[in-house]
Order: sequence, then structure tokens, then C-alpha cells
Amino acid sequence: MNLHDPINSLLKTSVVTIKKLKKLDIHDFWDLINYIPFRYEDYSKTLNINKVGENKTVTIKGKIEDLNNIYTRRRFQIQKVQISNKTGKIEITWFNQPYLIRLFKQYNYLSISGDIEKLLNTYTLKPKEYEVLEFLNQKTIHTGRIIPIYSTTYGLSSRTIREKVFFLINNLENIKETLPKEIIKKNMLFNILKAYKEIHFPSTLESARKAKERLAFDELFTIQLTSQLTKIEWSKQKVRQKLNLNKINRNKVKEFINNIPFKLTKAQQRCIKEIEKDLVSENPMNRFLQGDVGSGKTIVAAIASYITSLNNKQTLIMAPTEILANQHYKTITSLFKNLPLKTALQTSSSKTIKEIKKGEQIIKNQQYDIIIGTQALLNKKLSLKNVSLVIIDEQHRFGVHQRAILKEKAVNPHLLTMTATPIPRTVSLTLYGELDMSIIDEMPKERLSIKTYFVPQGKRENAYKWITKLMKKEKIQVFIVCPIIEESEIETMKSVKAAKKEFDYLKNNVFNAFKVGLLHGKLKSKEKNKIMSDFKSKKYDILVTTPVVEVGIDISNACVMIIEAAERFGLAQLHQLRGRIGRGKKQSYCFLFTEKQEKPIISRLKMFTHTQNGIKLAEYDLKKRGPGEIFGIKQHGYCNLKVASFSDLKLIEKTKKAVYYFMKNNKDIKKYPELEKKVENFKVNKIARD
Ligand code: ADP
Ligand code: MG
Repeated sequence: MNLHDPINSLLKTSVVTIKKLKKLDIHDFWDLINYIPFRYEDYSKTLNINKVGENKTVTIKGKIEDLNNIYTRRRFQIQKVQISNKTGKIEITWFNQPYLIRLFKQYNYLSISGDIEKLLNTYTLKPKEYEVLEFLNQKTIHTGRIIPIYSTTYGLSSRTIREKVFFLINNLENIKETLPKEIIKKNMLFNILKAYKEIHFPSTLESARKAKERLAFDELFTIQLTSQLTKIEWSKQKVRQKLNLNKINRNKVKEFINNIPFKLTKAQQRCIKEIEKDLVSENPMNRFLQGDVGSGKTIVAAIASYITSLNNKQTLIMAPTEILANQHYKTITSLFKNLPLKTALQTSSSKTIKEIKKGEQIIKNQQYDIIIGTQALLNKKLSLKNVSLVIIDEQHRFGVHQRAILKEKAVNPHLLTMTATPIPRTVSLTLYGELDMSIIDEMPKERLSIKTYFVPQGKRENAYKWITKLMKKEKIQVFIVCPIIEESEIETMKSVKAAKKEFDYLKNNVFNAFKVGLLHGKLKSKEKNKIMSDFKSKKYDILVTTPVVEVGIDISNACVMIIEAAERFGLAQLHQLRGRIGRGKKQSYCFLFTEKQEKPIISRLKMFTHTQNGIKLAEYDLKKRGPGEIFGIKQHGYCNLKVASFSDLKLIEKTKKAVYYFMKNNKDIKKYPELEKKVENFKVNKIARD
């Protein structure tokens, strides 16, 4: 049997089962082998029937002595089966499964796993798994061993999956080793075949752990090796024209920095230095600038753009939304207002460049030093010939795909990706290995930290009153964030405040003395822009909104934020929401509302009230709630690990070392065709994800 035979060719498998397997994304044998159990049940202890009561979970194997299907008065059916072996006799009972009797009748032996229970002074075995046997010493799959439990969906039972995997794993001897021998040895890993055998049918739980470690190692190794190979590939590229930071330019930059109305933080200065170094290199920069909301990334980006413009080259700045593009445009133009720099805004609603007729367009756009827009910029008919620097705000996965577009357009610009999303160290080590990192880990000094409060059910009215007073006194503005737009039909979602409903309620009852606006994701982007800019220009006092209020929106008069059903957000996400206030000189306040009373929820939210460090919050959620919960993995297209875990810093560092070792000693991956295949595969999937 071949690993990549289609799942259809699996023997003794019904069409229905095949269909269900496909729904689980299992299309060939390899996919099935990689369907990893999420836990185990230990049925490896066999029971001496005379010593019943000793163990809790056991397996009993024996000869079938008697079978009875009994009807009860209430139309129940009970199946009583008596089995015996050298150690004694025991009766085992099932309920309402008469087909078992029909099945057992065809066999002589039975193996049953389950829990020992005491009933009216006698011990019985409550069966959980059974297996019919032709002879007593037959190899078992579902009993008498540690059995794998798979996640079951689409009506496919763990038992069926187990059976299929068992069959496969015992008929496949040709799983080829992917890792170099030295790495396996150095890290004391299982070989690949053993790992697959042991992860599905482990001889001990420790062995299952080792098997998982080996497969997790593989996964991390592939990801990190791919990053390193990409990095090497990139480092061979050359920029079209080297940028120059000679004395004259350097002085101009200094002067510019001296004229901004604040002093750069040490962290900003360090990041600028790192970027400058990249900019003057003949190889294109690939840098990731990470910094909490409000840490001041924009000025760093502006300085990089300025250096580029001093070389008569252009900078593209791309934001994820038009609102943010607009904001960047305003900030950047005002920063450069005393310099002869030309800045253009290109969004679908702005006409700056669009207005220029086709044909002329290509020449005209080169008049600008800085062009700001959304990612749609890349697809526009802009000539990128003169572009030396591309800055991407809040778009993590900008990379392979967009880089390919740039390449097609024959430019090899410096790339700076910026994010306020707090990314735990383990995640950046794993997923961003190909990028150089700059981290602004310091807030501007005069920035007041945002006072954050947890508001339990009964205190809601008080909070409203307090906020009303503050609004009247200080003339500040308020964000009210609700998790979703429409009230859901689903029972569990009913308590969730729907923004629209909340909006009506607040406008007419609580805050009827104020102007209240509503912003949500179903609005057209033009409408969203309008509402945001109306809020900015104080046409509203309060903005009720779904979490679409963009990361990075800068409204300095908004000093209060209420977050409804706060428990529904990841902490990192809460942190980013909170970052939309606290931008001005006034003290800001964030209120977390929840209707929940469960302790873990409350302690999690309380933890948030006294932590202002985004990365710490993300790491807390990563530990407590897993990667799905942090920083909205889906929304950012993060890669989800299959076997490995982002919380396993130790293994991540171990594989990182192994990758460096490999790169140092085996420059040529071609010598490892299996590994190369894996890397290629991963790259293809990565592009698909982007
Ligand atoms: P973000 O990193 O979230 O993009 P911004 O660049 O928008 O942050 O900066 C947030 C605010 O802080 C802006 O109003 C900016 O002018 C201001 N700012 C940036 N750096 C400093 C600094 N070193 N000292 C004081 N204020 C600063
Ligand atoms: Mg920003």
C-alpha cells in the first residue's frame, strides 16, 4: 500500500465512511495517518476476575459462556453476557443493544474494556469498548491496550477511525524518514515510523508523549526551516538602487526629528536605527515592527519614508482599511508639512490619482514621495518603478503572495510590516522566522495608563451614571463596543448585546442627552468612513460599535470605552480595543461589562484590569485558552499548528536550534528529498493561506 493512495482504495470500508472521512479532510492514506488522536483511554490493564475491585479501568478477555437478551416491562432490552477465563467468571450487561447478541453469537471469545463498578455488593464491569475474537490471543484494537480517541464529527466514530488507522499503520512500512540522522539522535527523537505507530497505538503513555513530541518537532522544524530558507533566498536579492544616508541626509533626518513636537522614546530610536541599517543595504529589508497601540509606530514609518524620499525614491504605505489609510495620510502630511514632500492618498473613494487619465497616470504618480492607500494599491495601475520602500500596517501575512506581485512588477523594495497585535514570543519565533524583528517595548513617557475596571452585573447603572457625569464635565467622547451585530437565535448567544439593539436602547434611555452614533461591519466602507470622521469631529458623543473600530484609529478626545460581554473577547483583542482610547492628554477609562458570574471568567477579566502589557496578555490567553483564542487567529490568517503547540516554548527553541544546526552543516536541502518535499508543501499551503 502506498501512502498517497486515495482514501477510496481503503479496503473493507463503506462508501458512507469514505465520504465522512473526506469531510474530515482525509483524502489519502497519509492524511489518515496524520489524523492525530487528541487523547487516550488506558485499557492496558487486564483483570484477574477473582481479584475484582482492584483496578478501576480494565480489560477482561474470555470465552463466551452465555448470552441472553432480556425484555423488561418497559420495553427495555438488556443484554447479559457471561464470559470466563482461567481466573474466573463474570457477567457483563449492556442496555438496548440487541445486535450485540447477534454479533457475539458468531464468535467464541470476547474482549471487553470498561470500569469496575460495585453494585449491591458484587462487582461488575461497565463495558465501554468490546471486541469479538476468533481466538483468545488475537491482537486487539479497541481493548487490552492504550487506545486512541479521535475527535469525531460527521457521525464518524472514534472506533471506526481507530480501526482504519490500525489497519493502515500495520500495512505501511514505507513512511520515509524526513529528519537527518544527527538531528534525531541529538534530540533523542523517535524515528518517524515509530512515532506514527506510537502516536496512534502507544505502548505506554510516556511513549505517546514522545511520539507527539517527535511529530511536533517535525512540524516546527518544517515551519522554521522554510522560514530560514526563505530568508536566505531573500538575502540573495538585490534592491534596484541602494539608498544613501550620507552626512547631508543624516543631518536632514536629525533636523526633522528635532522638529517633531515630542522626544522619541529609546525604543523608537533603537527601531529607527535598525531600520536605517537595513535601508542602506543592497539587500531588501524584511522587517517586522511590533509595538503596542499608541507606542508610536507611525513616526518610525515616517522617518523611514523620509530617508527614502531624500534618495528621490517613493514609499508606499498600505493600511488594511480606508479609514486607517485616511488617518495615516493626515498624520503623515502634517508631520511633513514643513518639508517639500508630496503625499498622495489613494483609496477607492479618494480621487487623488484616479482622476488623472490613463496613460498619464504612470508619469503622474511619480511626482509623489509617499503614496498611501489600502492593499488595493498593489493591483492598481501604478508604476512601482520608483518605489524603494513599502510599509504595511496591520497586515501580518503580507509576505509571500504580495511579494510575488511586487516581483512581477519588477521591484524589490524594502519591506516594513507594522503591527500592534501583541504576538507571544513563541508565535513570532515559529511563524516569523524569515523576518527581522524590531519591537517598540516602551510607551511615550507622558502617556497615562488607561484605568480599567471590571463591572459586575449589578453595577451597570452606576457606571452609566458616572460616565454621564464625566461626559458633561469633561466633554469627552465614549466608545461602546458590542461583540456582534444582530442578536443571534442561538440560545447561548442570546445574552450577547447586539449593537443595533443596544444602540436603540442607549440612545433612547440611558444617554438620551447625548448624540449617539452606530458603526458596524455591515456598513459600506464609505458609510463607515463618514461615521468615523463624524465621531472624530465630535458630531457624536458616543459611538456604539462592533469590534470593527479599527486598530490604530486615533481619536484623542475619546477617553472612555465600555466593552459589553467582555468575556467573549480574547485578552489581546480586548487590549487592542482598549488601545483606541488613551491617546490624548486626559485620563482614560475602560469598563468591562459582563453578565457572567463564573470565577475563571471574572479572574481572567480582572487580570486584564491590572495589566497594560499586550504581549503578556496574549501569552496568558495562549496558556489558558489555547491559540484559537488569542489575537483572533482566524482573522489574521495565522497558521494553526496541527500537533505542536505555541505554548511549548522549550520545544520551539529546541527545533530552532536544530534548524540552525541543519543550516550550518547541510547547506543543501536537495540532499534530503523528503524534507524538501515537506518544505515545498508547507510553502504552497502558506501561499494559500495568505
Ligand atoms: P501606533 O504605534 O499605535 O501606530 P501612533 O504612531 O499612532 O501609535 O502614535 C500614537 C500617538 O502618540 C500619536 O498621537 C503620536 O503623535 C504620539 N507619539 C508617538 N511617539 C511619541 C513619543 N515618543 N512621545 C510622545 N508622543 C508620541
Ligand atoms: Mg498605527
